[in-house]
Amino acid sequence: SDHHLEYPISPAHMDWSSHYPAFLDPDTSKTNLAGARKLLKDVEVVDIGCGFGGLLVGLAPLLPETLMVGMEIRTSVLEYVTSRIHALRMQQQKLKSAAAGTGTTTQDSDNAAEQPALEDEVGNTTAVVPGNYENISGIRANTMKFLPNFFDHQQLSKIFVCFPDPHFKARKHKARIVSESLNAEYAYVLRPGGLMYTITDVEEYHYWVLRHFEYQSEEEKAKGGVKDLWERLTDEELAADPCVHVMSVETEESKKVSRNNGNKYVAVFRRKADPEWS
Ligand code: SAM
Repeated sequence: SDHHLEYPISPAHMDWSSHYPAFLDPDTSKTNLAGARKLLKDVEVVDIGCGFGGLLVGLAPLLPETLMVGMEIRTSVLEYVTSRIHALRMQQQKLKSAAAGTGTTTQDSDNAAEQPALEDEVGNTTAVVPGNYENISGIRANTMKFLPNFFDHQQLSKIFVCFPDPHFKARKHKARIVSESLNAEYAYVLRPGGLMYTITDVEEYHYWVLRHFEYQSEEEKAKGGVKDLWERLTDEELAADPCVHVMSVETEESKKVSRNNGNKYVAVFRRKADPEWS
C-alpha cells in the first residue's frame, strides 16, 4: 500500500538536499519553495523500480557528474538501497584518506595494484571511483502515481525500466509500469533527445513494450498520437551506449537471469522533439 508515501506537491517543493550533500549549492540563501537548500544541478536520471540499486551503483562511476535517483515502492528494499549507498560513500572517504596518508593519488594512478583497496562486508575489494557514489540516491515512491510531482517537464535525460514486474495475467496488466498513460508521463519528464531504456527477460513483456512505443501498422501511424514522440535506437546505437551494458549485467535481476541462462530483451527509445502542432 502507498498510503504513507510522502511526495512533494510539485518538483519545486522537492527537498533533494539530504540526498546529494556533495552537490549542495554553497549559497545557503538559495532555497526552493519548501524552504530546502538548493543543489548545484538537477536530478537527470531515474531508475523506475530500482530494486536493490545495482543499476545506480553500476552507473555512478560512469556518469560521475550526473545526479541519479532510484525509485522503489517497497520500504525495506529502499532502506537497503539507502544504506548500501551510504556504506559505499563511507568506503570511498576511507579509501581517499588512506590514499592521502600514503601519498598515493588513487584516481590518477596508472597502476591499479598501487591503489588502496578496502574489503566490504561481503569481502569484495573496491577502489576509489569517479564521483565517490555521491551522485546516486534512492527514494520511496509509487512511480505509477507521482512521477510529475518529482520531476519537471523535460528535466530528465534518461529513464530506466529494468526487469519490471511482469504481471502476467491480463487482468493484472494495468499494474504494468509501461502503459499508454505512463508513457505519456515519461515523454513529459524526458527532454528531447533523452532516452527511455527498457530490459526484460519476459519475451511477451518485450513485445508489450514495443507495442506501447511504436506504431504497429500504417493505419495506426496515420491516426497519430503519443507514439509520434518516440523513436527506437538501432542495434549499433545500443552497442555504442555503455549504459546498455550496465543495465544488462549490473542489476540484481539481470544477474539472476544470467545465472538461469535466461534471455534479455532490450529496447531503448529516444524522446523526439515535440511536433510542430504542440
Ligand atoms: N530494476 C531492478 C532490477 O533489475 O534488479 C528490480 C527489478 S524487480 C523485478 C521490480 C521492482 O520494481 C521491485 O523492486 C518492485 O518493488 C518495484 N516496483 C514495482 N512497481 C513499482 C512502482 N509502481 N513504483 C516503484 N517501484 C515499483
